[in-house]
Amino acid sequence: MKRIGIPHGLFYFYYYPLWKTFFEDLGWEVITSSPSSRLTIEMGIDTAVDEACFPIKVYMGHIRELCSCRLDYLFVPRLVSIEERSFICPKFMGLPDMVRALVEEAPPLIDIVVDMSKSRKGFQDEMKRLGRLLAVKRRDWERAYQHGLQELEFCRALAREGYTMAEAIKIWEGQPAPTMPEADLNIGMLGHGYAIYDPGISMDMINRLRRMGSRVLLPERLERKAVEEQAATVPKRVFWTLGRSMLGSALHLDQREDVDGIIYVACFACGPDSIIGEIIERKIKNKPFMFLTIDEHTGEAGMLTRLEAFCDMLRRRRMSICDSDLSSHG
Ligand code: SF4
Repeated sequence: MKRIGIPHGLFYFYYYPLWKTFFEDLGWEVITSSPSSRLTIEMGIDTAVDEACFPIKVYMGHIRELCSCRLDYLFVPRLVSIEERSFICPKFMGLPDMVRALVEEAPPLIDIVVDMSKSRKGFQDEMKRLGRLLAVKRRDWERAYQHGLQELEFCRALAREGYTMAEAIKIWEGQPAPTMPEADLNIGMLGHGYAIYDPGISMDMINRLRRMGSRVLLPERLERKAVEEQAATVPKRVFWTLGRSMLGSALHLDQREDVDGIIYVACFACGPDSIIGEIIERKIKNKPFMFLTIDEHTGEAGMLTRLEAFCDMLRRRRMSICDSDLSSHG
């Protein structure tokens, strides 16, 4: 049985159920690196170039961990676009090249090109090419691919119920669903999924907010049509898929009566965040807004203090909103 490694980082949080199902249905053993830890981060920092953003560094740590697992292949797709007329950050296009250049001991890579910018068929065509490369019959890879899409949809449905994609994947793998603590606040949280759903990168910010009595609203939970409509209100169409989703989500949350505040989590050295975060900060008019930047040096205590202060401010604001003009920025 062939063994393939899938790193527990970046688009793992958006596509792992599809990839895992696809390879397992074809009779392969799928090995995943452990969830991000301090060791993963240290290995990533040692491996990646200094200019790389934090999630890319962490991803390199996952690659290093998988290199010690006796694998036949490592799955590092070259993501160009995951929807029509939109693109993913250019760092994803160069990911296989980065891995080959920086990790000498890496096993051979399977680096399919995912480009749906012109047509949704782009992904399917690439899976077909992969099926041929793996010498699998057309009927088998098609069945595996369709099965993978169904499993992915199962996880996305869980995310629409309020679980993070990381939690949805755990539930899909058979773990019990986490219980949500009582909440008196509704906070919208925006950021790249591979940053905010990875507890090692975000320092488990979502669960910390939940324990502080907040219901955390994530982009996957919002109605897609409403998000797209809001994103279309800016003069120039945002062509980054995740950036447009965050902008539309921020503007949508800003209009909702039931939302108390919005937090944007940016990654240090992220080009798209430096633009999208700035636009969102300027466009949010009605809700208290907090912009947090995280990197490998971010201290847990400082981050915790800011979250607590934000929640306290939201509660005070709610109490005094009837008889004061407290600014929406606290
Ligand atoms: S979008 Fe930002 S955080 Fe994501 S890979 Fe690109 S630079 Fe890194």
